Amino acid sequence: MPSGEKDTLPRLDSKAKDRQGRDASPAMLDAPGPAGINKACLEESMLHARETCKAMNSKTTNSLIDVVAFDADDTLWHNEPLFTETKSKFERLLANYHSREWIAQKLDETEMRNVAHFGYGIKGFTLSMIETAIELTEGRISASEIGEIMGFAREMMKRPVELLDGVREVVVRMSESYELMIVTKGDLFDQESKIARSGLGDYFSRIEIVSEKTRRTYETIMSRHRVHPSRFLMVGNSIKSDILPVIAAGGRAVYVPYPTTWIHEMTEDYDPEHTRFDQVEHISLLPDLLNEWTTAFR
Ligand SMILES: [Mg+2]
Repeated sequence: MPSGEKDTLPRLDSKAKDRQGRDASPAMLDAPGPAGINKACLEESMLHARETCKAMNSKTTNSLIDVVAFDADDTLWHNEPLFTETKSKFERLLANYHSREWIAQKLDETEMRNVAHFGYGIKGFTLSMIETAIELTEGRISASEIGEIMGFAREMMKRPVELLDGVREVVVRMSESYELMIVTKGDLFDQESKIARSGLGDYFSRIEIVSEKTRRTYETIMSRHRVHPSRFLMVGNSIKSDILPVIAAGGRAVYVPYPTTWIHEMTEDYDPEHTRFDQVEHISLLPDLLNEWTTAFR
């Protein structure tokens, strides 16, 4: 647990509503309450936290793990193919100006540069496409072509969420034994929309949409939800974002590879001899792996 971390009540009601009845975002839930918060409200919150803790304990008493956190993109649902498909459209749009290979390379470079400014997700990607188009055409890109790029983005935003094979069954089964969490990077609106469209939202009692997945990010999440690192498991398709920082924070991690990995998520910055984590080739193998852990633990 990071030193100096403010000790707060566990933020267990991740599906709380704001005053307009919308799902409250993590930022909203973290916001300080009004100065005039009354005692009844505080007591109600504490009672709810205790009841939820009791429910959590009843699920996990016999397990090695309290919370199983899932990455979302390319772990629960397909994501990278949508970006690959859109990049192909972008390359075709600019094909009169440059080779497709050169356009692809310059777009990758712009994306890598812009992540620090605009974060992850479709909106940042769209800005990178527009910036790359302006650069590669030396300003000759037309307004209608920029309009086409905006159309690519709108298509991405409304594309149905396609779950990976076996995900629904695994999530339903594991929700009976563990508290489930989503920890995903990206644009808040985009990710909240995908969680809603996935039809899986009700199985996750906690949802964290973060701007970056670092050791500090995971330490903060574990602390906020009062989960001991050794009882926190992260499942994901990125060694860089879902595995190494969790292990560094003292947690457990299971790597589930996805056929394609975005260049930004690739890493060779670890020593496979000394960095040990479990790997399953398909998410459907995850429940059996956890059962093996639990059996060994007893
Ligand atoms: Mg992912």
